[in-house]
Amino acid sequence: MAKITLSNLAHSYTSDNEYALKTMNHVWNDGEAYALLGPSGCGKTTLLNIISGLLAPSQGQVLFDDQDVTTQDTAHRNIAQVFQFPVVYDTMTVRENLAFPLKNRKMSANYIEKRVADIASMISLNDILDKKANGLTADIKQKISLGRGLVREDVNAILFDEPLTVIDPQMKWELRTELKALHQRLGHTMIYVTHDQTEALTFADKVVVMSDGEVVQIGTPTELFEKPAHTFVGFFIGSPGMNVLGAEISGNKARIGGHELDLGHGYQNLSGKLEIGIRPEFASLSRNPDDLPITINRIEDVGHYKIVRASHQDMDINIISDEGAEIFEDMKFVSFDSSKINIYADDWLVEP
Ligand code: ADP
Ligand code: MG
Repeated sequence: MAKITLSNLAHSYTSDNEYALKTMNHVWNDGEAYALLGPSGCGKTTLLNIISGLLAPSQGQVLFDDQDVTTQDTAHRNIAQVFQFPVVYDTMTVRENLAFPLKNRKMSANYIEKRVADIASMISLNDILDKKANGLTADIKQKISLGRGLVREDVNAILFDEPLTVIDPQMKWELRTELKALHQRLGHTMIYVTHDQTEALTFADKVVVMSDGEVVQIGTPTELFEKPAHTFVGFFIGSPGMNVLGAEISGNKARIGGHELDLGHGYQNLSGKLEIGIRPEFASLSRNPDDLPITINRIEDVGHYKIVRASHQDMDINIISDEGAEIFEDMKFVSFDSSKINIYADDWLVEP
């Protein structure tokens, strides 16, 4: 296993200075489970393939522990990678497919038998070990691919690129939970690419949020929820995402339209585009005319809570309200938990 360092790394597929990955410097800890989360096209696969050695970066280095592996191919980097679509040998049985990476490494027959049985039972393939892969459904084949990625104990890291895409929703849920447990058991450094926040948040110790070729935040699920480093993280994580409202800020007060709000902290010398960020979970409907006036446009009942879609002037404000909470006609204001308000200047979080 290895700590992974990305040093001054960037990548362009073309010669016209358009960067699919913008310059980044990061250290990813040995043995941790990372999710690489961001919308389609933001550069997740590019970054993963640079880490695995399938792609050579146009700038910078990749280090495993302290060794520069930038010019090494995938095999020499000693990593396992699981792709979006299954990669299995159709003519082999499930058992032979799982054993293949170990046979290649000349492990003993005893060890292979035990290890294959172990992995097969972890991902519930033990009943079909002697079936030929040919003829199995796409999701079972993808499970075999996952198994092949997990079977070697001696890898530096295991990389997954949207591995549950072809898996049906129910099995997706099971596998997501199993992968988390497997990480805890196996202790490998794992990097899991996904555009699905639920997948990222259930799987990872740390989520790496990407937008437009840039890593905008690396944090625990709690940090991403409570302190989004960039307004993009606030929008992208949570459903609905964080409310972001243009404001004037001075000291510990924010002004929105003609209304003043208390902030939990004081801020000095702010410049640029200023906004407050408040999650719908920390906003409540109120009758108090000192609070911010709103118009309620729609109420969505989504089971264990309600989403109130409201607006103040041309700004949308979402409020999450408990299932049991009654909503009355005269609740024409919104109040925010001041300790949960974050301040953004040009989209980046500012510390008080
Ligand atoms: P993601 O995995 O987050 O969807 P990618 O890393 O695949 O994103 O792509 C990032 C950007 O690089 C996109 O704009 C994509 O069009 C571009 N890109 C990806 N692969 C290639 C390639 N082989 N040649 C040229 N452009 C590419
Ligand atoms: Mg991709």
